Amino acid sequence: MSSVERRCIGCQQNEEAVRLEHCVACGRDFCADCAYRAAGRRYCSAQCARNFFYGDDDDDDENDAAAD
Ligand SMILES: [Zn+2]
Ligand SMILES: [Zn+2]
Repeated sequence: MSSVERRCIGCQQNEEAVRLEHCVACGRDFCADCAYRAAGRRYCSAQCARNFFYGDDDDDDENDAAAD
């Protein structure tokens, strides 16, 4: 019935396979395995954690995706 299936933006599994959470920064869904933890919250990515925490500021080109 729902044409748009929610799935993790990281591993692409849907909510029947994993438990999805909503990223408070970007609104996308992610699972616990793909979550990035920061300051007691979970985000879909380190980028979102920063954006949410510091505000969505300029394009500070930090492509260091060291978080896994
Ligand atoms: Zn995932
Ligand atoms: Zn996010």
